[in-house]
Amino acid sequence: MTSPKSSNLTWHGANVTSDEREGILGQKGCVLWLTGLSASGKSTIARRLEQLLLERKVTAYVLDGDNLRMGLNKDLGFSPADRAENIRRVGAVAQLFADAGTVCITAFISPYREDRDLARSLNLPGRFIEVHVSTSLEACEARDPKGLYKKARAGQIPEFTGISAPYEVPMAPEITLDTENRDVDECAYQLVQDLRQRGFIPAA
Ligand code: ADP
Repeated sequence: MTSPKSSNLTWHGANVTSDEREGILGQKGCVLWLTGLSASGKSTIARRLEQLLLERKVTAYVLDGDNLRMGLNKDLGFSPADRAENIRRVGAVAQLFADAGTVCITAFISPYREDRDLARSLNLPGRFIEVHVSTSLEACEARDPKGLYKKARAGQIPEFTGISAPYEVPMAPEITLDTENRDVDECAYQLVQDLRQRGFIPAA
């Protein structure tokens, strides 16, 4: 990672330790990083999971690729360099949410291993859970909820992941989600269960 442009910076720590913060909140912050092709189900699962967690009084928040591209990342496109910067920024934001004690669920295609690894490296060991939403290209293309694959096949969207831009499959994700044989709820509940087992949220 490059160093900051500015010098004379001082890190200001909090008055409460991370342990104290997590004791008060009754949960541990983490990043649940969903990666997969467009239409693999990242946003749908992320939203359902967020809802399930909030219903259980767990503070959770979704960072969604399209949403952030409308604000924080509105200056970025889909070239490899812009995709890397997109992930660098959202990785940093996700880390802040985790540091605040929130279960931060991210839904970005994040096609490059190097970029995902950078996002991982910003977090404390064990606090970054890579979730490969492993829906096949064929299934994503058959779903095509936003008609993007159709446009990409017609050459109307350049650099479309899976069609004209690469997707690097995670080598060792903590979790692999099969959305082709299981519905949205089953996938979301699997993640709730996993968060419990890893001790981020209280047992049922
Ligand atoms: P992404 O965020 O990965 O681009 P979306 O969540 O926007 O994908 O779209 C996924 C589509 O697949 C939705 O239309 C959703 O209803 C459908 N779908 C079918 N089965 C599942 C599943 N098990 N998990 C998630 N989405 C599913």
